[in-house]
Amino acid sequence: MTVLSVRNLSVEFGIRRGLFRKGRVVRAVQDVSFDLIPGTTLGLVGESGCGKSTTGLAAMRLIDAHAGKVLFGDRDILKLQGADLRQMRSKIQIVFQDPFSSLNPRLTAAGIIAEPLEILGVGTPGTRRARVDELLMQVGLSPEHGGLFPHQFSGGQRQRLGIARALAPDPEILICDEAVSALDVAIQAQVLNLLARLQANRGFAMLFISHDLSVVRHVSDEVIVMYLGRIVERANAKTLFDAPLHPYTMALMSAIPSRDLDRPSTRIRLQGDVASPINVPSGCAFHNRCPFAQARCSKERPELEQIRDGHYAACHFAGRIERPL
Ligand code: SF4
Repeated sequence: MTVLSVRNLSVEFGIRRGLFRKGRVVRAVQDVSFDLIPGTTLGLVGESGCGKSTTGLAAMRLIDAHAGKVLFGDRDILKLQGADLRQMRSKIQIVFQDPFSSLNPRLTAAGIIAEPLEILGVGTPGTRRARVDELLMQVGLSPEHGGLFPHQFSGGQRQRLGIARALAPDPEILICDEAVSALDVAIQAQVLNLLARLQANRGFAMLFISHDLSVVRHVSDEVIVMYLGRIVERANAKTLFDAPLHPYTMALMSAIPSRDLDRPSTRIRLQGDVASPINVPSGCAFHNRCPFAQARCSKERPELEQIRDGHYAACHFAGRIERPL
């Protein structure tokens, strides 16, 4: 069963370059498709600027998509307006990277969590207060924390507050956009465990967006790897981490410190930086950095194809490239 189906989603931004010069287009997301399943987590991973956050924001209509569909049941979120859109948005909530800048500094914790309930007209002031206390406890805080302001919390507590606010309207989908990236490792683990516990109890689907492959590995059932706005690999988490098919995924994985000191992984060092999404390289967008590139790679763009059962990759030589050990 699917709670959200994203189909061929594309997001473009126009950039003006001076008064008389023709504008250029940033192709931030191109032809991205995936499904979210209740009670499971889809990890979306890639370097900064690969389009992963833009994909999440476009899926909940916080930015406009250029093409595609985002189906919630039989309704396309990209076509909704007014009250229908507001209602739909309550089903999809987001937790941002920086809880400090995403929490209103003038509201108490209780006011922050109650705000979405007030906007949606859920319950009475009394039942909302009870719900706020319940949410504070569910995220590991106490009702007494409700009277404090954001600056009086630690970074980890602020992120718990952001999670409580996101869960207040009882969403069916939670988007976590680099939600633990600003936290130190010990607090990251606590927040990840909290998210897993809340998901097990509430059954929401999670889209977990991160540049950190080791965090994505920890939380995801399925993983999508993006590069310059496109999906380059997709598989269930175990398959992807055991036997990656795309050289870019292999390179990302080789940068994770190995816990098995007898078999440290060989680092694949990529040449250069990610190209600009304004000027995407011809053919395979990864060809200027790929250690396995051949002449064909700069001319023909590889499509995302199923290489093995449920395992997709966009590489002309997927399945024929040996991952260095
Ligand atoms: Fe590398 Fe060529 Fe595969 Fe692209 S298509 S990932 S350049 S081998």
